[in-house]
Amino acid sequence: MNFHETLPRYGEALLRLFYPSRCAACEKLLELEERGICAVCLEGFQKLKFLPSEERIRVPLTHGEEAWALFRYEGLIKDLVHQIKFDRRRDLLEIFSGALSLFLERRPGLGRYDLILPVPLDPRRQWQREFNQSALLAQRVRKCLLLRGRDLPVKERGLTKRRSTPPQSLLGREARKLNLDQTFRVSSRARVRSKSILLVDDIFTTGATLEEAAKTLKAQGASRVGCLALTRALLH
Ligand SMILES: [Zn+2]
Repeated sequence: MNFHETLPRYGEALLRLFYPSRCAACEKLLELEERGICAVCLEGFQKLKFLPSEERIRVPLTHGEEAWALFRYEGLIKDLVHQIKFDRRRDLLEIFSGALSLFLERRPGLGRYDLILPVPLDPRRQWQREFNQSALLAQRVRKCLLLRGRDLPVKERGLTKRRSTPPQSLLGREARKLNLDQTFRVSSRARVRSKSILLVDDIFTTGATLEEAAKTLKAQGASRVGCLALTRALLH
């Protein structure tokens, strides 16, 4: 090991001495080589299965063409996504990289889109959180597809939200639809015209967000709109 390799390691060890890191799942103190969650929780995470029924979300879609989700929004997954968003733990997204890569390997069709657009946060939430978790996910999707020889550009500001809307999870089904009406804006019509677009989101709830975004994109000339979500929340 040369100097340049050992120095960051000592730096990390020193940092951990003063600021011990805890597992995001069980709160055990992390070993130096552990990142985000401990080895035991990571093993549990790696055993988690993708959503049953071939991961495809079967909801009637008018504007969007297809929707996929990796995991159900519950238990450890819900906990991690929650921490990513509300505790600003963007480092925890790394834990999902392996699963994302495996998922995309199983679904080669998802690499045949022309463009990746993250579902935007509303301006106020983006400002509070300082990052959009869906944009970070979109970059990871891009990396995984690149490894498979598919180079799909990500346009982080390709789709924006016009105004602040209440969180979808707090609203009833009808209110959800109204909440999103006329919400999205396409930054460049030329960029989306005749393109097939893969939206990337952290949580798929009813499909109202996908439908509204797809409606906006199609009005601007997009040919096809699909959605890949990290998780799917089931409504009770
Ligand atoms: Zn743990």
